[in-house]
Amino acid sequence: MKVPLLDLKAHHEPIRKELLSAIDAVFQSQAFILGPAVERLEEEIAAYCQTGHAVGVASGTDALLISLMAAGISPGDEVITTPYSFIATAGAIVRLGAIPIFVDIDPVSYNIDPEKIAAVVTSKTKAIIPVHLYGQLADMTPILKIAEAHQLMVIEDAAQAIGAEYHDGRRAGSLGDFGCFSFFPSKNLGALGDAGMVVMRDPELAEKVRILRVHGGKPKYVHKIIGGNFRIDAIQAAVIKVKLNYLNGWTRQRQENAKRYIALFKESGLVDKKRLSLPEAVYEAKGVSHYHIYNQFVIRVPERDRLRDYLREKEIITEVYYPIPFHLQGCFQSLGYKAGDFPEAERAANETLALPIYPELTSEMQKSVVEEIQAFFS
Ligand SMILES: *Cc1c(COP(=O)(O)O)cnc(C)c1O
Repeated sequence: MKVPLLDLKAHHEPIRKELLSAIDAVFQSQAFILGPAVERLEEEIAAYCQTGHAVGVASGTDALLISLMAAGISPGDEVITTPYSFIATAGAIVRLGAIPIFVDIDPVSYNIDPEKIAAVVTSKTKAIIPVHLYGQLADMTPILKIAEAHQLMVIEDAAQAIGAEYHDGRRAGSLGDFGCFSFFPSKNLGALGDAGMVVMRDPELAEKVRILRVHGGKPKYVHKIIGGNFRIDAIQAAVIKVKLNYLNGWTRQRQENAKRYIALFKESGLVDKKRLSLPEAVYEAKGVSHYHIYNQFVIRVPERDRLRDYLREKEIITEVYYPIPFHLQGCFQSLGYKAGDFPEAERAANETLALPIYPELTSEMQKSVVEEIQAFFS
């Protein structure tokens, strides 16, 4: 059975009229740059994320960059983060002349291992960027504790985690100083193009981000600091606001799909035979369970590349997030890392495979995915 990685057409078709009328309303208003559509979305995202403030920006990448700028990150500063994420996480640090300091991941959650952070804190460390990978929060309590002890800013890369919750109910983006979201079309809440958002609890930091978003001008044409054009597009803001009403329903569908995969894989016997491992039991050893929103459903399979090719032949599309950890990327060679420095990130890069998990995925499709994986192993 043909199973795509994502089906945006099926995703948008039921709300097509509503989306087009939201776009038309912006057109009627001719308020294309910031304005009411952006303000309304910011209010709703701030409420949804349980932060007092939200500032719309052009992308998740810009959300990270502007947060680091607002945090005062300067050339030579060190910023601790994971080596296993989308390139934007570390790219934003280097673009400001700062130095990313990588810390290996936890092999079960794929998120930064908090136990390894304290050892790399120096007098130059200014911030930590935990990434809530695949839709599940990093273990924030020990991260926040280290940050407090050393006066470090915490910038959550929550691009894959809108609506995800820590085990105590706090939402992604509300635990650190800044929460960064992406509305790239493949994220759980996607625009019809590029867009992003920064959320904050501190009104002063929010004000700083707002000023940086418009070239650092306040009042207009008066510049104490240099910013950039980081604005979210008003049409995209109107689209996202419509889609936000559906987000919880889509999240539930993703979670149901995840549950179904887990049941099907357990029935298949592949888990018992240790042919693959599932994204469950995460943090269970620590007695907690975070509210996972399954931006991705990622299995670990030592024979990953052969399995992926096999599934592609059967028209089942999967993806590898991410095949090369940061410390082995050519663009970060000058940082001086080498193969073997972060064994868990390297192992994850070689063994993880993301299966289709989008809300519109049918149970027949899921059965077909699991059957084909069984067929591969038999
Ligand atoms: C998608 C993503 C980003 C970047 O978001 P864009 O909107 O594409 O710029 C950053 N970090 C992570 C972890 C992401 O998944």
